[in-house]
Amino acid sequence: MNYWRKPLDRDKVKPGDFEVHILKDRCKGCRFCIDFCPRQVLRDSDDLNTKGYRPAAADPAKQCINCGFCVIVCPEFAVSVAMRLEKEPNV
Ligand code: SF4
Ligand code: SF4
Repeated sequence: MNYWRKPLDRDKVKPGDFEVHILKDRCKGCRFCIDFCPRQVLRDSDDLNTKGYRPAAADPAKQCINCGFCVIVCPEFAVSVAMRLEKEPNV
């Protein structure tokens, strides 16, 4: 992948080091996060939430790169991304 700039932590952080958390009952199923994810990490889940929507869910087989698009576009503030604890880099 060619970068227009080199991220300062590129050598420490790798795709797959992050996990996506979605507050299922806050989601309204707008699919913005699904459509904007450049790695196709997010998809519709099979369940309904308490509002009757089909919430977004993270596909564990896909690798999140923590670009943050899903967090920014979610109108319900339902998405957050965190580093996997077992992958925390040495700082
Ligand atoms: S942070 Fe980026 S790569 Fe990760 S799930 Fe969100 S949009 Fe996809
Ligand atoms: S952007 Fe937010 S409200 Fe819309 S589907 Fe994703 S998690 Fe749900």
